[in-house]
Amino acid sequence: MKPRQAPMPAVLRQGRPPRHPALAIRCPHCAAAPDMRCTTRAGRTRTTRLIPCPARLDAHALTDVCPTCQVAAGTPCRDSRGHETAVHTARYTTAQETR
Ligand SMILES: [Zn+2]
Ligand SMILES: [Zn+2]
Repeated sequence: MKPRQAPMPAVLRQGRPPRHPALAIRCPHCAAAPDMRCTTRAGRTRTTRLIPCPARLDAHALTDVCPTCQVAAGTPCRDSRGHETAVHTARYTTAQETR
């Protein structure tokens, strides 16, 4: 009888958790380079943010078409009257990592 071996999850094989897709672009807020985590100033030390800056999430969401208002990539979201509006929530989740 062979010993049972559980398949190793892909995350463990990579040795690190999957990065946030927004890390593919430079952060317009804290100027973190692509692939680098966002930083925040706490007192005089810079600490790493686990979650990218909201501005980076917005900028990354804009790299893809919005599934809610159907605007093209690079175009700000628009409401039903055609006015610029905040990025639609669905756009954050559909924006894929750009490589
Ligand atoms: Zn940032
Ligand atoms: Zn939209």
